[in-house]
Amino acid sequence: MPGGNVRPSYTGLINLGGILPGSGLAPTDGEMRMIWGSRAFFGYAVRDNGEAWWFANIGDAREPSRNAMRQERDAWAGQLTAHFSDDLPLIPDLIRRTSEIHSYPIHDLPHVPCWRDGPVGLIGDAAHATSPSSGQGASLALEDAAHLAVCLRDIADPAAALAHFEAERRPRAEQIVAEGRRRGAYKAPRSRAQMWLRDALMPIVFRFLVTEQSLAWIHDYRVPHSAA
Ligand SMILES: Cc1cc2nc3c(=O)[nH]c(=O)nc-3n(C[C@H](O)[C@H](O)[C@H](O)COP(=O)(O)OP(=O)(O)OC[C@H]3O[C@@H](n4cnc5c(N)ncnc54)[C@H](O)[C@@H]3O)c2cc1C
Repeated sequence: MPGGNVRPSYTGLINLGGILPGSGLAPTDGEMRMIWGSRAFFGYAVRDNGEAWWFANIGDAREPSRNAMRQERDAWAGQLTAHFSDDLPLIPDLIRRTSEIHSYPIHDLPHVPCWRDGPVGLIGDAAHATSPSSGQGASLALEDAAHLAVCLRDIADPAAALAHFEAERRPRAEQIVAEGRRRGAYKAPRSRAQMWLRDALMPIVFRFLVTEQSLAWIHDYRVPHSAA
C-alpha cells in the first residue's frame, strides 16, 4: 500500500475550539483575528449575525493520550481561561460562554516515504498532512488535484503519471509541512523570557521579513500547465 506504516507526528500543540451564537461582538467583516497570547494562541471571527467562531492552540510537550483528550467541557474551559487570564478579556469571556468545546492534538506527516503503489496514489492530507499553523493544508490538496490532473492527462501510463506527480509535488509539500511546524513553535511560549523575546521581535519580523515577496513561494505558486 502507498504510505506504508507511517505514524503521524505530534506537533506539541493541542487545538481547541467552539462556536458561540449571538456573541454580541461586532462582526469582523470576513477577517479572522489572531492573538499571540502570553501562554497560548487564539483566533476568532464573528459573522454578520453575531455568531463567533474561535480556536485556541495550547502547548503540551508530551503527546496527550486519548483519555486525556476526553475531558469534560468545564475542565477544558477552566484550563483555557487560565491560559488566557493575562490576555484580552474577550478571550476568556468567549470561552466561558461557549457550551461545547472541541479538542484534539495536532499532528502532521513530515515525510511519507512513498505516495504510490502501481496505479494507486495518495494526495492531500493522506500524503502530507500539515499543521493548521501553516494555513495551507486545503491549498496543498487543491494544488495536488490540479497537478495530478495535468500528469494523468499528459502521461499515458497511470503508474508513471503518479511517479512524476510525486517527484514534482513532494519537495513543495514537505517544505510547507516544515513551515507549519516552524510557525507553530511560536504559538505557546514556554517561559516569560520566550514570550518577551517573541513580542519584541514580532513587529520587526512582520515589518521587514514577512512580506508579500518573502511569502510568494507559498501564495503565488502556479501549478504547471504540462507534465513535460
Ligand atoms: C483546525 C484546522 C484548521 C485548518 N485551517 C486551514 C487553513 O486555514 N487553510 C488551509 O488551506 N487548510 C487548513 N486546514 C487543513 C485542511 O482542512 C486539510 O488540509 C484539507 O481538508 C485536506 O484535504 P483532503 O481532501 O486531503 O482531506 P480531507 O479534507 O480530510 O478529506 C478526506 C475525505 O475522505 C473521507 N474518507 C476517509 N476515509 C474514507 C473511506 N474509507 N471511504 C470514503 N471516504 C473516506 C473523509 O471523510 C473526508 O471527507 C485546517 C485543518 C484543521 C483541522
